[in-house]
Amino acid sequence: AKENGESKTDVLIIGAGPSGLMAAYWMARCGIQARIVDKRGTKVFTGQADGLRVRTLELFDSMGFQHRVQQEGHVAVEANFWVPDGKGNLVRQGPHCSSKANESPFRNMLLNQGRIERFLLDSIQNHSDLQVERGVIAETFEYDEQMNDDPNSYPITVKLRTLSGEEANGPSLRVNETNQTTVASGVTRGNLLMDDWNELVENSRAKETKTEIVKAKYLIGCDGAHSWTRKQVNIPLEGSTTDHVWGVIDVIPISDFPDIRRLGTVTHASGTILVIPRERSMVRLYVPVQTIEEVTTSEGRFDRSKITLEIIKRRVQAIFAPYTFDFQICDWWAAYQIGQRIAPAFSKGNRIFLAGDAVHTHSPKVGLGMNMSMQDGFNIGWKVALVASGVAQPSILSTYDAERHRLAEMLLDFDRHWSGLFTEGDEESKTQSMIKVVELFEDFADGRKSFYGASELVWKPENDGDQPTARHLIPGERFPPVKLRMQADGNLRWTTRLLESDGRFRVVILAGDMRAATQKDRVLALARNLSGGNDNELSVFDRYTPLAGRFDCAIDVIAIHSAPWTQVEFFDFPKILRPFDPVRGWNYDKIWCDDACIWDRDCDGKGYERWEVDRMRGAMVVVRPDQYIGWVGELEEVDELTRYLDGVLIRKTANNCPH
Ligand code: FAD
Repeated sequence: AKENGESKTDVLIIGAGPSGLMAAYWMARCGIQARIVDKRGTKVFTGQADGLRVRTLELFDSMGFQHRVQQEGHVAVEANFWVPDGKGNLVRQGPHCSSKANESPFRNMLLNQGRIERFLLDSIQNHSDLQVERGVIAETFEYDEQMNDDPNSYPITVKLRTLSGEEANGPSLRVNETNQTTVASGVTRGNLLMDDWNELVENSRAKETKTEIVKAKYLIGCDGAHSWTRKQVNIPLEGSTTDHVWGVIDVIPISDFPDIRRLGTVTHASGTILVIPRERSMVRLYVPVQTIEEVTTSEGRFDRSKITLEIIKRRVQAIFAPYTFDFQICDWWAAYQIGQRIAPAFSKGNRIFLAGDAVHTHSPKVGLGMNMSMQDGFNIGWKVALVASGVAQPSILSTYDAERHRLAEMLLDFDRHWSGLFTEGDEESKTQSMIKVVELFEDFADGRKSFYGASELVWKPENDGDQPTARHLIPGERFPPVKLRMQADGNLRWTTRLLESDGRFRVVILAGDMRAATQKDRVLALARNLSGGNDNELSVFDRYTPLAGRFDCAIDVIAIHSAPWTQVEFFDFPKILRPFDPVRGWNYDKIWCDDACIWDRDCDGKGYERWEVDRMRGAMVVVRPDQYIGWVGELEEVDELTRYLDGVLIRKTANNCPH
């Protein structure tokens, strides 16, 4: 391979799966000098993960592309449990539907990982020139910890090698543009959308092999279950592999089973199949296969390599009986062994971070692998981006480990409970046990609760429950979604979209009922205090280093008031909420109201009640760039708000903020 010299980058991301792309989103969004490499010649097109939990969709909304999932994906809200009736038939138990299904604008969805990667790639491209460098492997690593204290140093050195087409794609990938076929496993022109097909054709072209030394300030290892980065920093993956072996198939079924297009399970004396309806008439089936004779060695051990698609199909037919099951089209299939493993640490020296499967692996049946991995990438991405750009204090980086490790432990706990149910327990009680486990873990699994502990990014009262105001806006948790009306034009928006993931902290002024003169005075006084008050102090908005090239202020401010929109006017609000530009006029999208809308029932004017905020007095909240709540207080508590921000953001001296 040709030597290609040495280069520098602020952030190097290794691995462009769901977690790496999520981290890369933040680099693109915040304008960070970054690179992202992946040894695979192409992205994922078929197979692998397919479950999207509501919190992930809320995050996608804040990133601007959840509508693409709604268009292409399949909703999965109710589950049906089919069990033997003792007379040779199967009977339906259910449907079971979560009582919390309406606590988010979105519902759990099913869509292939390849499409999710597509949406992330498109979003990255919309915001920057950052491109995934495919067919590029990270091969050697050095880390000089002595340099850690200097934020401008490049303590990480990685050698990258561009692979030949065959090394990157394997011998089977050949695209023939004339007859439009390829022999890559399961991938055909027929099962790819045009954007993915174009990428496949592009990436199958031969590349020049070369090596390059890259020096980086920060490294994010998102390189999957066999993580190369994790091994370089000597962090083990602890846990065990069970002897449960599973087949997974993505097929277009031909079956008279009535619920073949519905989410659910089918239980048989020898195990339980999980049925997952998917896009393009496809269905995914997880099938227990470890008790099959053909795949057992003479010593009675299981040989995974002996599993074939035909064997999995026959197993499904046996469990579905008396219903029929067959298929002609199979998009993807695999056999895997369950293991639950976790790394004891997710970072090294606050310069190297590990995300996704690199630090936790578990069975895919909980439908969380991709979600947790993306949420890891989302959590570390904005922190590294803001620190690398000189906006945020490097100390915030240690919150990554603290916030995400605990969740990874919960993930493994959930998996142990859930996966066990597919092979153990009697058929009679299985449905009840499954419902119990789902209910026990659903707040965690769907992401309605994040359990982020106290830190410089999360200011909690000393005792849980001691928060005097806005008791359902809990620091460390998500901002419970509510649909609001824009004061100026009456259009509606969910808070998940309003709190856009653009790299800024957001001060949300819950302005209360401004029809009352005393409340209006409180809001005007708050605006004066935020703008520096009468003491010529630097305003909160001018106090911190801006996000260069993106925003001239690291903090955004919005207001949500509680009066009927007809009874207060846009110009009643202070100037910080209606910035004026001599060419473009007023900015209208900072003032919102929690008022019912007769033409959209989701907008019910009950946000303040959901947040447990006094409709008259309001409150003030800081939302972190990743939509989690950082601080909550009263409208008068600008000093405390400033102390919170001082602990997170880097102060500047020059004044270049527009507010
Ligand atoms: P990955 O998606 O694994 O991405 C890691 C990336 O790093 C890869 O693209 C790899 O090429 C790259 N890489 C690795 N080493 C290097 C290196 N040295 N240099 C450069 N690049 C490197 N989850 C489910 O929920 N349901 C399922 O049914 C399911 N099935 C799966 C089947 C298979 C075969 C696999 C592999 C995974 C499956 N998963 C499933 C898991 C799910 O895909 C993962 O949880 C998710 O992809 C994790 O995302 P990630 O970004 O952390 O890692």
